[in-house]
Amino acid sequence: MSWETVIGLEVHCQINTDTKAFCGCSTEFGAEPNSQTCPVCLGMPGQLPVLNTVAADKSILTGLAIDAHINLESKFDRKNYFYPDLPKGYQITQFTVPIVEGGHIDITSKDGVKKRLGVTRIHMEEDAGKSMHEGLDAVSHIDLNRSGIPLMEIVSEPDMRSADEAIAYLKQLHQVIRFLGVSGADMEKGQFRCDANVSVRRPGEPFGTRTEMKNMNSFRFIKQAIEFEVNRQIELIEDGGEVVQQSRLWDSVKNESRPMRSKEEAHDYRYFPEPDLPPLRVTQEHVDAIRAGMPELPGQLRQRFETDYGLSPYDADVLSQTRETSEWYESLVAAHPADPKRCANWMANELLGRLKEAGKDLASSPVSAQRLAGLLDRVGDNTISGKSAKDILDEMMVSNDDADSIIEAKGLKQVSDTGAIDAIIHEVMQANPNQVAGYRGGKDKLMGFFVGQVMKASRGKANPGMVNQRLAELLKG
Ligand code: ADP
Ligand code: MG
Ligand code: ZN
Repeated sequence: MSWETVIGLEVHCQINTDTKAFCGCSTEFGAEPNSQTCPVCLGMPGQLPVLNTVAADKSILTGLAIDAHINLESKFDRKNYFYPDLPKGYQITQFTVPIVEGGHIDITSKDGVKKRLGVTRIHMEEDAGKSMHEGLDAVSHIDLNRSGIPLMEIVSEPDMRSADEAIAYLKQLHQVIRFLGVSGADMEKGQFRCDANVSVRRPGEPFGTRTEMKNMNSFRFIKQAIEFEVNRQIELIEDGGEVVQQSRLWDSVKNESRPMRSKEEAHDYRYFPEPDLPPLRVTQEHVDAIRAGMPELPGQLRQRFETDYGLSPYDADVLSQTRETSEWYESLVAAHPADPKRCANWMANELLGRLKEAGKDLASSPVSAQRLAGLLDRVGDNTISGKSAKDILDEMMVSNDDADSIIEAKGLKQVSDTGAIDAIIHEVMQANPNQVAGYRGGKDKLMGFFVGQVMKASRGKANPGMVNQRLAELLKG
């Protein structure tokens, strides 16, 4: 009998704010250790936290984007534990009543199957500081710049049934968050990190005991960690053992997970209501105003690209990966409105590939949407062949010239003039009387030979469509 995998994900996402959750300290990344601290985020006694309402508004916006319920009154609690990077001895978090409940993320699998994955809740909390051990001999240093930075914890239902589904959920959530602008979600900076809860069961049976892989910040590692853990649990059970509920750490060097702490050793956080913060109350009008300011979301954008521009689902997906990509595409279409599909092909297949090779992105692209549109205009009016256009784009990547001046300078203008093409065809026919006779005698395959000869005689500049059309005409005799 086969096994079924069950996965639930907790994502910690740094909310994009200028100042911390409960004090006025800057959240700027990469500053001198401890330079962005004050008595509140250093955990000095007797200091009063004041909620940064920007963090609340961005949590609400995220909730609305995933169709969740917004609690007009939510609460803050204290989660008590000792850790060197947590000077207060507790973390302020929303335990009993989070700001957002419910909602869902829709994913599409590689074979096009859609699935709706439930979100349990989004609550606000503050980040802890950072312990630093690297390069230090027998001591640790603590940087509290991160202490008090606002986070959203997005907790999913145990709805995923494979590592691929888990990754699809995370990528979709990551994309939505980036589109909303509520977080930089830069995984390398730890702004989007994931705990993966994994269990296995026989299909139809109740959920098995879960383990939790903590704090991963790469899609690749998360996938590897889940797959490793699923195999470990199955082998364990099949060998007559039992899964123990525990937290585990993924070691991306050894490609294995190892236990961190088990349920028995788990913290008793002794949650209680945060006495220094009143409940967070927002009005329905305020929530509605936030909803009114909601930007277009990736799913809506993909749909619009398919219907308005006739793009394939694949191209629509590629061109809506980030807001920047979609905006670039739409300015290309605005500059070359004649053919949105041509715009999509050239941007997705030609430009993005060249940028990647050059180690650049759209923001640093040497070719602007305007200049690419200029090139596509010349493809559209048959001045140049597609093949020449690719060479011209190569040239545009390293020069500031526009398509027209490169065409002019290199003499790449395609011959689309019937008279000129007919003249070349006549020459080719005269030089190859046997093939003409053969074609006329029924050897249709010789058409390819003639097209090749004419293209060669024109040094590649004849418009291929026209060559085919005129050859068919003139070879008839
Ligand atoms: P904790 O604080 O113990 O991590 P949470 O309620 O915050 O508990 O998170 C539990 C996470 O584990 C949720 O994402 C939930 O979907 C997931 N989960 C719960 N039970 C299982 C299970 N049997 N298998 C896999 N995931 C589970
Ligand atoms: Mg957890
Ligand atoms: Zn501070």
